[in-house]
Amino acid sequence: MCALYIHTPVIRSIPMSERTGKNIQLKLENLQPSGSFKMRGISLMCQHLLSNGQQQLISSSGGNAGYTAAYTGHMLGVPATIFVPETTNEHVVQMMRKVGADVRKHGRFWEEAHTAALAFARENHAEVIHPFDNPVVWQGHATMIDEVVKQTSKPDAILLTVGGGGLMAGVAMGLKRHGWTDVDIIAIETLGADSLSQAIKAGHAVRLEAITSSVKTLGANQVCDEAFRVTKEFDVHSVVVTDAEAIQACKVFMEDHRMLVEPACGAALSVLNNHHPVLDNYSNIMVMVCGGISFSVKDVV
Ligand SMILES: *Cc1c(COP(=O)(O)O)cnc(C)c1O
Repeated sequence: MCALYIHTPVIRSIPMSERTGKNIQLKLENLQPSGSFKMRGISLMCQHLLSNGQQQLISSSGGNAGYTAAYTGHMLGVPATIFVPETTNEHVVQMMRKVGADVRKHGRFWEEAHTAALAFARENHAEVIHPFDNPVVWQGHATMIDEVVKQTSKPDAILLTVGGGGLMAGVAMGLKRHGWTDVDIIAIETLGADSLSQAIKAGHAVRLEAITSSVKTLGANQVCDEAFRVTKEFDVHSVVVTDAEAIQACKVFMEDHRMLVEPACGAALSVLNNHHPVLDNYSNIMVMVCGGISFSVKDVV
């Protein structure tokens, strides 16, 4: 079975290195065919289900996980049904439909769309692809680190964003299998979607009553257990930024590198713009430029 994700480049960011006085390298996951790192874990999960006899793909994500499932269905010639909340970005719905997905809108929030997806999956003897809480998904994301190990020397820290924590779980899995367990993880969330930060403070999993951040991609009410476990195994520095900082960072990134990413990615980039103290102890930082399609040119001008 052929992998559908691509090997992405690592580049040194001259503007970011100059601004921070550090060596800033970018792992350009925004170049994945579905526009985000989700291409790694979600496409692997899709292939896993299909090789186990499932004949269709079902997702309950109105974001990059849903689009990646739709894109994977298109590439492999299998039907994809994506259950999304009514609040889903219309541009993303159109992109899903363009690759042939059957997009069904259910309810105002993810839980309602997910409930509908589960019922549909039960009728069809199929499984719903979870956007972040599945070991196969982490296994796919971990390939990012397999590449980094070959592309550059060991960084002091990896900078990434956290929604449900699948990206962080995958990165940790990759670091571990290459013996890079002394690499720190700088984990960024937006205020109002800061379920990891709150869990670390509380010392146990915390469930947010509501997501008040506008950065919906990072809006998981609770991080997966594996992400919380990673905070015990690695030196994880949790930082919370504002939505405005995340959006501003997308504009700066566009100026710096002429590429458009969504605020879920901008959140990580934002700590490189304002001399954030979390960077103080590091000189070599690898940034996971996670990408994302829920943003368009008119959002940045
Ligand atoms: C999914 C996603 C995230 C968050 O990943 P989790 O695995 O939910 O922590 C961040 N940025 C982008 C662009 C994403 O698609």
